[in-house]
Amino acid sequence: MERKVLVEVSARHVHLSPKDLATLFGEGYELTVKKPLSQPGQYAANERVTVVGPRKEIANISILGPVRKETQVELSLTDARSIGVLAPVKESGDIKGSAPCKIVGPKGEVLIPEGVIIAKRHIHLTPATALEFGLKDKQVVQVKLDNGDRSLIFGDVVIRVRADFANAMHIDTDEGNAAGLNGDVFGTILS
Ligand SMILES: [Zn+2]
Repeated sequence: MERKVLVEVSARHVHLSPKDLATLFGEGYELTVKKPLSQPGQYAANERVTVVGPRKEIANISILGPVRKETQVELSLTDARSIGVLAPVKESGDIKGSAPCKIVGPKGEVLIPEGVIIAKRHIHLTPATALEFGLKDKQVVQVKLDNGDRSLIFGDVVIRVRADFANAMHIDTDEGNAAGLNGDVFGTILS
């Protein structure tokens, strides 16, 4: 059986805690939905922020909602280097020991002592698909992307299984560009 999964490229984005949302956009402010994402309940918001590092800043960064327990900034390695931040590769939600930065919104700014990460590439699977594919939560696999003349095999891809997931592999823009991706492509899970 071929184990195919849709590959989605995640652009740089920010998740905000309720407290930081209030500081950046004003007390009681709520994010507004621009576009739902593939993962149920998740969305890209209309609101944008600027992320400031020691060397440079990047404006107009998307906020993904809903709000989370902790603020997190997910950049590509290229982004992190360009703004002068030494961000580690980590799974989303695991920000312990990650890099600091400043976030600027229309009503204020916050200095986060940690929270900037390069998201570790991963595959979201429903329990049913994981069973069908013979894969377990936290398992690490290789995925082959066949896309014209830049086919690439990614290692260190973490499987994440949860009932409220939709099947999708997530890579960042550096990884998508390395594979020459442009639009929807399917990856093949090799091992
Ligand atoms: Zn994801």
